[in-house]
Amino acid sequence: MSLATLNLAAEAETILAKLGVAPSAYKGGTLAVRSPITGTEIGRLPELTSQQAQSVIGAAHQAFQEWRLVPAPKRGELIRLLGDELRAAKADLGKLVSIEVGKITSEGLGEVQEMIDICDFAVGLSRQLYGLTIATERSDHRMMETWHPLGVVGIISAFNFPVAVWAWNAALALVCGNATVWKPSEKTPLTALATQAIFEKALKRFVAEGGKAPANLSSLLIGGRDIGEVLVDHPKVPLVSATGSTAMGRAVGPRLAKRFARAILELGGNNAAIITPTADLDLTLRGVAFAAMGTAGQRCTTLRRLFVHDSVYDNLVPRLKKAYQSVTIGNPTVDGNLVGPLIDKASFERMQKAIEAAKAEGGAVTGGERVLEADAADAYYVRPAIVEMPSQCGPVIEETFAPILYVMKYSDFDAVLDLHNGVPQGLSSSIFTNDMREAETFISARGSDCGIANVNIGPSGAEIGGAFGGEKETGGGRESGSDSWKAYMRRATNTLNYGRTLPLAQGVKFDI
Ligand code: NAD
Repeated sequence: MSLATLNLAAEAETILAKLGVAPSAYKGGTLAVRSPITGTEIGRLPELTSQQAQSVIGAAHQAFQEWRLVPAPKRGELIRLLGDELRAAKADLGKLVSIEVGKITSEGLGEVQEMIDICDFAVGLSRQLYGLTIATERSDHRMMETWHPLGVVGIISAFNFPVAVWAWNAALALVCGNATVWKPSEKTPLTALATQAIFEKALKRFVAEGGKAPANLSSLLIGGRDIGEVLVDHPKVPLVSATGSTAMGRAVGPRLAKRFARAILELGGNNAAIITPTADLDLTLRGVAFAAMGTAGQRCTTLRRLFVHDSVYDNLVPRLKKAYQSVTIGNPTVDGNLVGPLIDKASFERMQKAIEAAKAEGGAVTGGERVLEADAADAYYVRPAIVEMPSQCGPVIEETFAPILYVMKYSDFDAVLDLHNGVPQGLSSSIFTNDMREAETFISARGSDCGIANVNIGPSGAEIGGAFGGEKETGGGRESGSDSWKAYMRRATNTLNYGRTLPLAQGVKFDI
């Protein structure tokens, strides 16, 4: 079916109705949403005023005061039901992700699977929110730490993971006893409405089964940056987890710091891979192709810089170029297409600007041109670009959120590690090697400076079991697995005296 004959507004409406979203939530408003698949409008949402946003946050604070009293394993039961509802809705929500963001079908479904996975993780976690018991110097005393809920957790999300980022944060925040308020990307509010409806279904079941949960436990703020700012500045929001560009983090971080609120910042990446002389080149080719071209280069973990040892360069790079020339580009909901559209025209223009800047620095470009323009004049499909660069300079240092892979030759391992770390961002990284010394060095203290460092796997994507996030201009936040839950709670140290005397610490005497 050609792009011109698709009726994505109707498809989106059918899915939204099935998931329980009322048409009034996405019709007749001021916030226009377009599907990048065709560029056509698929919704027009009413936006909140800042006063309305303030009262949503106030109501969430009330909800928090009740929810914190519910035992954590019971809070986990709500998240178990959320996982259940997400399983039932996986096909529909996955399709809506594809329609709203342009992800290929398996990636749309994969995003919902990630939501299900974090729910499973959080259910187990709800019985493991433990603190330590610590040796005390005073006799007949006990010292320990306890973890308590924080309050309202604000979640700001980017367009490229329109629903998974909410789940990473909300599943943990809710089992930890917090309420959540979510400001989704203004480019992807339909999937947010659908997710909120799925949450409401889980909540209804939880209450029907005898669970105690307040209204307004999880709420949505539909609007632009100004509405995000209300969340960032609100005194009843002790933590904001914000995912997006480094420019956004630069605005949000200091505002949160000013009122001593906590921040989890998940910002831009400029991820690299090093291909060494001993790399398995067949595996490398597949790893690089997915990491660089998947999601049309619109993942924070997308591979953007490739350092190839000069002994394997002439073997790998021509094969890579061939893969770039033959990759199937088009309607992401059609099986077999591997590269969908860019999110919008501005994104396409930024890509072209970066390619021009790279050429000016001596870059040799393969691909990068617009395709399928005749089929859909308002959609922006591109052939992913490989740019062979003489050195790491100009646009290579920046994150351009599009499928451009800068390829550079290297000969010395220590020098390439310096180049690898020589950018402001620090999210994800990889080495392809069968040399144990190189692999171990790459993941050691003198190796990659990123939050994620992989061996024989591309930098793109992650499993929810590990902590996710990056260093430097990526913001330093961690979310999802490992002990990331601690960021959503406050720690209290308790000392209890079960004796009949009052010894003071450090031998201090104060006899009255
Ligand atoms: P963006 O920065 O334009 O917007 C992200 C969100 O921040 C949106 O909801 C937006 O409304 C909000 N926002 C922007 N300025 C704000 C402000 N001053 N106050 C409050 N809210 C504000 O990002 P985008 O184009 O949607 O997403 C792409 C970017 O996100 C890329 O840089 C990508 O690397 C990054 N990203 C990072 C991660 C990660 O985990 N590190 C994950 C996904 C995306």
